Amino acid sequence: METKSIIILTWLIALVLIEYRYPFILPKNLREKLGHYLKNLSFGGINTIISILLIIPLSKLVSDNSLQIISFDHIIFSILILDLFIYLWHRANHNIAFLWRFHKIHHLDRSLDVTSSVRFHFIEVMISALIRLVVIFLFGISFAHVLIFEAMVFIASSFQHSNINLNKRFEKNLSYLIVTPSIHFIHHEKEMANTNSNYGTIFSFWDRIFGSSNQNIERNQDMDIGLKEMGSGEYLPDLKLLDLLKAPFKK
Ligand SMILES: [Zn+2]
Repeated sequence: METKSIIILTWLIALVLIEYRYPFILPKNLREKLGHYLKNLSFGGINTIISILLIIPLSKLVSDNSLQIISFDHIIFSILILDLFIYLWHRANHNIAFLWRFHKIHHLDRSLDVTSSVRFHFIEVMISALIRLVVIFLFGISFAHVLIFEAMVFIASSFQHSNINLNKRFEKNLSYLIVTPSIHFIHHEKEMANTNSNYGTIFSFWDRIFGSSNQNIERNQDMDIGLKEMGSGEYLPDLKLLDLLKAPFKK
């Protein structure tokens, strides 16, 4: 646990520094940037508390008492099955109106950086964790594997949301296996056809296998991040933390 925390913290600091040094989109001003950090990290703080108090203990309980219908008890199998699950779950969040109410909060972010990766409504985090318990139960995924997977998701998600301008060739090669910032940027583009594509979290091949990979456009600095409806009145662009938390419950 200690080593895991050190690795994650080092990774995060490194990403923030690289973002600062090699940004894909230059931040407009420091004040706005700090506000963005603060708001998203507040989401992250709420979700960390829920994770420590609820999700981790429940995952351990279910893992220790699982059915093991199909269990290979191998880390590769566990990572593949859990990553496939969150790919399918992410698609469900875009296609089921009730789930979209909560997932939308993630997409209302007007710019992307490392902190966007923790901007999730706590209800989405809780529902997602509860459904994942079914997967852990059926496939008998060990608690150690769940923890490794969680660390991998955190590392992958912070990377794919980061505002880093990577070497094009390096990123292209990486994108055959891993979801890169360019791939995920398209998922946050305002056009709904783009938002409803590129759902992967760790591996990019699920999108290619299930036909949701978006090869039509490449990310560029002029693209708008967010949702088309922003500013239309339903959601104002700069909703405060509390308003974002309440937004899914409004008619
Ligand atoms: Zn999404």
